[in-house]
Amino acid sequence: MDLAAAVNSPDKTAVAVKGKIVNVSPADTRSTGDKVIDYQEVTLKDSTGSSTLAVWGDMVNQFEKGSLVKFPRCRVRLFNKSKRLTTVPGSTYEMMNADDDLNDVSSDEDLSDVVDTTTSGTIVAILEFDPYLSCPNRACNNKKLSTIKDDKFVMLCPTCKKKYGASACNNYARATVFFNQGDQSKKVSLFKPEIQKIFQAKYSEPTIGWEKPTLFKKFLELLPLQVTCNIENSTMRNITVKRAATNCS
Ligand SMILES: [Zn+2]
Repeated sequence: MDLAAAVNSPDKTAVAVKGKIVNVSPADTRSTGDKVIDYQEVTLKDSTGSSTLAVWGDMVNQFEKGSLVKFPRCRVRLFNKSKRLTTVPGSTYEMMNADDDLNDVSSDEDLSDVVDTTTSGTIVAILEFDPYLSCPNRACNNKKLSTIKDDKFVMLCPTCKKKYGASACNNYARATVFFNQGDQSKKVSLFKPEIQKIFQAKYSEPTIGWEKPTLFKKFLELLPLQVTCNIENSTMRNITVKRAATNCS
C-alpha cells in the first residue's frame, strides 16, 4: 500500500508499507505499564508522501537514512490529531537493495510531503441531534452520562464510575449528519466544539443557547454546508467552514 493510502486509512488499520528512510530521530524509551521499551521515530517516504513510523524494541537503531525498507505489517495510529504509523508486536522489516517504485524518491525530508488527511465535502442532512450532560472529569473526554434509576438529578459516568449532580456536569452535544464527498455519502458524527465552530463561522451571535429545538433549527438552516475536516473513526474534527462562493452573475 502506498503511504498516502496507508495514512488515510482509519485509526488502527493494519497496513503493509515500504519506503525510503529520510529521517531517523535519536533513540528513546517509553514506559508502558511497568515496562520500559526502546523507541524511535523514523520518517518513511515514497512517491505519494511521507509519514512518521514509530519503531519499538529490537527495531530501534536498525535503520539509516537512505535505506529502502519494507514493513509487511504495521499499524495506523491517530496521535495528537494526526495519523502516523507504528510497528506492533510481531512486526518485521526487510531491507531492500533497490525498488522500482522508490527509485525516484529523493532522500530529503521535505515537510510539504507529509500526507495530508484533510478532506472536504458537504454536510447535506442532520440525522440526529443530541444535547446531553457529559462528565466534568477532563480525563473522561466529555463522556455522556446516564441517569441513575429512580433519581433524575444524579448522573453516573460509565468511564470513571463517579456520580455527579446535574449542575456539576458539562452541557455537551453530538450531531449525526450525512456527509457527501463526490458521489459518496457517509454517516458521521460531530461534537459540540465542532458545532460551535460552524455556528461561529456562520452566525454573528456570539452564543446560541444549547436548547435542542433552537440549535437544531439553526443548524438545519445552514444546510447544505461545505466544510473541510479530518474524519477519524466516523467523527469529524478540525472543521473549517468554506466561504460561500461569490455569485458572479
Ligand atoms: Zn467520568
